[in-house]
Amino acid sequence: MPETRSVADAPSPDRVLIVGAGIAGMQAALDVADAGYDVLLVERRPSIGGRMAQLSETFPTLDCAQCILTPRTVEVGHHERIELLTHSEVEAVEGEMGDFRVRIRRHAAYVDWDLCTGCGLCQEKCPGRVPSEFERDMGERKAIYTLSPQAVPNKPVIDPEHCIHFLRDRCGACAKLCPVGAVDFEQQDTIIEERCAAIILAPGYDLYGLEHMPEYGGGNVPDVIDALAFERLLSSSGPTAGQVRRPSDGKVPREVVFIQCAGSRDPQEHLPYCSKICCMYTAKQATLYRHRVHKGQAYVFYIDIRASGKGYDEFTQRAMEDERVIYLRGKVSRLFRRGDQVVVWGADTLSNRQIEISADLVVVAPALQPHPETARLARMLRLPTDEHGWILSRDANAHPVETPRPGVYVAGAATGPMDIPETVAQASGAAAQVLKRFAARRRGRSRPTCPPSDPTPD
Ligand code: SF4
Ligand code: SF4
Repeated sequence: MPETRSVADAPSPDRVLIVGAGIAGMQAALDVADAGYDVLLVERRPSIGGRMAQLSETFPTLDCAQCILTPRTVEVGHHERIELLTHSEVEAVEGEMGDFRVRIRRHAAYVDWDLCTGCGLCQEKCPGRVPSEFERDMGERKAIYTLSPQAVPNKPVIDPEHCIHFLRDRCGACAKLCPVGAVDFEQQDTIIEERCAAIILAPGYDLYGLEHMPEYGGGNVPDVIDALAFERLLSSSGPTAGQVRRPSDGKVPREVVFIQCAGSRDPQEHLPYCSKICCMYTAKQATLYRHRVHKGQAYVFYIDIRASGKGYDEFTQRAMEDERVIYLRGKVSRLFRRGDQVVVWGADTLSNRQIEISADLVVVAPALQPHPETARLARMLRLPTDEHGWILSRDANAHPVETPRPGVYVAGAATGPMDIPETVAQASGAAAQVLKRFAARRRGRSRPTCPPSDPTPD
């Protein structure tokens, strides 16, 4: 049974709960906290940063994603008005705008984070190894781990499903090595209850799995990877330290095929909507590939190019002209392994030719879909979703960050695919709505409840 801690001394209700600590949740948290209000920021994973922490560079400026993200994660981690609960999940919400009561499960880390100094000794000697989800299975992590070297908080958790102590009652190396005795195999989940006046949901997105797309190998063809995996190959903190090497044999790929709209805009077989960011990040990835592998050739299969943000079209043009990326308008019909290469069959509808490319690496840009957390949160808060599972805002045009439930707001890719600038703008919009409510509540509280005594003498 989990240990239960109830918060007897309830904090001020002028406080917002933010669920999800990716770039959207962090931006909203900083905006609210900097305005002088308290934030409870709850993140399911052991550390904050979300998907952006996995990216190499951002389009269209090619700024290093970590350089943008790290100052924010540090600020969130140290902000006196932000209480950060990572490795935690919101399990239930009751009440209404102004006074929500929230039940949160803090998962056992099996490490006492109050004692842990983040020295990392425990991870060095841990014999338990498992493919790292953060590295899209192209690298390993230990059974005691942090998500990345820049993790905030920089405290490890033990994964009991892969820890030899939990599996076979052996090992215990981390506990023996920890200089401050922080490893605690007996630690239990903790349930805490909190109060808040408003809620912002920022659950982020997931990628449509390759297993749903047999035309692109169904996830079973070596050296056919998704775009997030390619981000990890490009990242200097990734499994290849930023060198582009294909997963099967570590060779530098000389011919790389990128496939846009994989699962998007395909109402017959997959998802009908445009995932909005794939055109741009594919142009970015093809550009970065050319920066890393000067003699390499990149090909992009596309349906059409949607580059509508500021500087986006120019960026795509530079990929074509300066980096000599070959754009082929058409769909890939099939790909398969031949020898140590991946053969890609497609059509170029502009020249009316059938195309065959023997590639060293294929990078698929899958559709964005709601994160599984989105469905759970929507059910818990009784929020409407569209047929694909994205949360419906109160009014997509006039109130895009409000939900039909008063006091509950959305930020980032809770309502649909969006890029980083739009996500940050939405998060600030959601924070502004919360601050508007808090300001109104303060004005209401400061109004006198009784009429002032009449100073006029009889
Ligand atoms: Fe790793 Fe588990 Fe051994 Fe600790 S007890 S070092 S987490 S395998
Ligand atoms: Fe924390 Fe101990 Fe591991 Fe160092 S060895 S990171 S103090 S648990």
